[in-house]
Amino acid sequence: MKARSIISILIVAYLYSPLSANDRLPNFVVIFTDDQGYGDLGCYGHPTIRTPRLDRMAAEGMRFTQFYSAASVCTPSRAALLTGRLPIRTGLCADKLRVLIPDSAGGLPEREITIAEALKTKGYATICIGKWHLGHLPKYLPMNHGFDSYLGIPYSNDMKPTVLMRNEAIIENPADQTTLTQRYTAEAIQFIKENRNKPFFLYLPHTFPHTPLFVSESFKGKSPRGLYGDVIAEIDWSTGKILDTLRELELDKNTLVIFTSDNGPWLTQKQDGGSAGLLRDGKRTTFEGGMRVPTIAWWPGKIKAGATSHALASTMDIFTTCLTLAGIKLPADRIIDGKNLTPVLLGTGPCERKVLFYYRGTKLMAVRKGSWKAHLITQGGLTRDADPAIVHDPPLLYRLEHDPSEKYDVSKNHPDVIADILKEVERHRAKLKPGKPQLQKRLSGK
Ligand code: MG
Repeated sequence: MKARSIISILIVAYLYSPLSANDRLPNFVVIFTDDQGYGDLGCYGHPTIRTPRLDRMAAEGMRFTQFYSAASVCTPSRAALLTGRLPIRTGLCADKLRVLIPDSAGGLPEREITIAEALKTKGYATICIGKWHLGHLPKYLPMNHGFDSYLGIPYSNDMKPTVLMRNEAIIENPADQTTLTQRYTAEAIQFIKENRNKPFFLYLPHTFPHTPLFVSESFKGKSPRGLYGDVIAEIDWSTGKILDTLRELELDKNTLVIFTSDNGPWLTQKQDGGSAGLLRDGKRTTFEGGMRVPTIAWWPGKIKAGATSHALASTMDIFTTCLTLAGIKLPADRIIDGKNLTPVLLGTGPCERKVLFYYRGTKLMAVRKGSWKAHLITQGGLTRDADPAIVHDPPLLYRLEHDPSEKYDVSKNHPDVIADILKEVERHRAKLKPGKPQLQKRLSGK
């Protein structure tokens, strides 16, 4: 072979080798806010909440209009994001107890595979900073689910004792919540700097804007939206600091950053809760306001700047997408509900997801297929007595692209659509295999 041909082959091999210096395994940053509504960002139309850094992130990346959390409350939503599986499969859901509490004896089972655990097989550095809410007993904490380290309040910030933990130790009780977002941000930046030379996964599930709301002095009283707006402004600042750090270290072109929320706004908190914009209802419900969340993906050079995607996507897809991009095979011994979003992000192909299932606890409440959404059961976001579950036979039918606020039931006009969706329900139920319930068991003696 002529020398020139050999050189050409070597150049091609260098350019396309997955291990070449210019094409290292991608880093992943997932910023996950708590109870932030679909309408609570400038780039999602809020008139007075100012989010210049998130708006810029969207202008430089991709904004999703139909991105869903897998549950309308914290614990199941987090389990789904990290495992790519519906909460009913992992057992992290229940009809009566909706989330884990400090008296809970359960948590994310050891057999479940998190994004962090999967990425560890490729040598990723991993960290969880913020609200874990998948079990606070040592065997359930982040370090037993693939994370090298942890800093945060292990459950909701309205639960007592409101402890701040580092790894498996309590370092502050009660946690000073006014400086939490600042401290989470500093920890995130330090982690990025320390791991600049190896692939990393930074999972940042913020404590806020879940109530009670707190901000640091520099953000207090600044937003025309009041305290809720101040809290979002601090999260906006935090996101900006993280993106700036990635740029400064020249890691931006090798890092996929996703910003999203765990569920819709907690409307019963009134002004301290957020807004779902034009979507109906909020947290705890399977109306759009409870499940559809603001989502931005950022990866300069890979994701086209200023893109808007109407793909039907879910937080569960983050699992499948991260594994795919890192060249890791999906676990074959279990059902994974997450789809690969890479074609959507890179603009190379269509969205894989055609159907979306909306659960509340263990109950399948609604199904979306294409533009259509059928509600089998509806229930509001108040207590069970004030908002009883209503079974619909035939189901209510909304055409979401015409009627995003779910106002007009068109079931009478489209029996064929309902029949088709009921077939999807049958197929789904036939291979459901619910997991062992994790939320009911309480710590002994309490
Ligand atoms: Mg939440």
